[in-house]
Amino acid sequence: PNTKTGDGKPRLLLMGQRRSGKSSISSVVFNKLAPSETLYLETTHRIHKESMHSFMDFQVWDLPAHIDYSDPAFDTEDIFSDISALIWVIDAQDEYYDAIQRLNTTILRLQESHPSIIIAVFVHKVDGLSEDYRTDTFRDIVQRVQDELCDAGFENAPVNFYQTSIYDHSIFEAFSKVIQKLIPELPSLEALLDALCASCRIEKAYLFDVLSKIYVATDTSPTDIGSYEICSDYIDVVVDISEIYGWERDEAEAAAEADDGGAVGDSGNKDAESLITMEKHGNNYLYLREINKYLALICIMGEDSATERKALIDYNVRVFQEALNRVFSR
Ligand code: GDP
Repeated sequence: PNTKTGDGKPRLLLMGQRRSGKSSISSVVFNKLAPSETLYLETTHRIHKESMHSFMDFQVWDLPAHIDYSDPAFDTEDIFSDISALIWVIDAQDEYYDAIQRLNTTILRLQESHPSIIIAVFVHKVDGLSEDYRTDTFRDIVQRVQDELCDAGFENAPVNFYQTSIYDHSIFEAFSKVIQKLIPELPSLEALLDALCASCRIEKAYLFDVLSKIYVATDTSPTDIGSYEICSDYIDVVVDISEIYGWERDEAEAAAEADDGGAVGDSGNKDAESLITMEKHGNNYLYLREINKYLALICIMGEDSATERKALIDYNVRVFQEALNRVFSR
């Protein structure tokens, strides 16, 4: 229901005041820019649509200082009509009262016109704040937003808050949480991942959007940021991002690539274009399989005879893939 575009992709809009970090977020997450290089980015001036090889579509919109929703010339329909989630970025290192004011005006406005849009607030640039100050600032922002909405007669607003920074994995984690709210099939995906983990003694399994490294789903066992990082780094090692842009690969290429990575080959692989690798990582094994153009399954498992179980894992992952395709084609 929240995927309103013809291609069924969730569409996200990033909004907030100038210099709050919107272009930086979009460049780091979707264009793989090193965080330190965002210092030299030009700030966004108007609506800016990214079209990319990702599971989701993404737009960045700078909030003009003169924004006025009561102005009939301001066409909210034009901006919000096919958006599934609005991410509002607040610079936690700056004065944020004005930003909160504008955020609340927007939330109230959306509540009337587009109540199904998911709203997320990124309390951003928290890397620059001390532990205590960070917690206080976060709490203060959440409180102010909720109090004001409450005063406006809007209790229990469906707004979620996240602490983010482009200098660590928090921005990816927050995006993952937002995306997961947009996937009506999430419970089915989690159940499929749980079943896969149980049948193959997998410790943790993630379904990643390969380009952005946002995870679309994971099994329901507790998530720790460490396993996310391991899997996310593994994508960098084995998946050549440039390949994603031309996802037609023939069997020979795919096999050669798997060999290059020192991976355990899969000679019985029928879907030639999908990359499958398994490698030792410390005391664990990592298994990666491309599921479709955008998504890859990545699993972490213990050492115990992982290589002998490779055939079983391949088999179960194929079953998982078929079930997943059925879920997404519903
Ligand atoms: P925009 O106008 O909202 O697009 O903001 P920019 O993306 O241009 O960012 C403004 C400044 O904030 C840049 O100098 C970025 O390097 C900096 N910035 C963005 N994200 C972060 C962050 O997570 N932490 C810190 N410390 N600085 C950030």
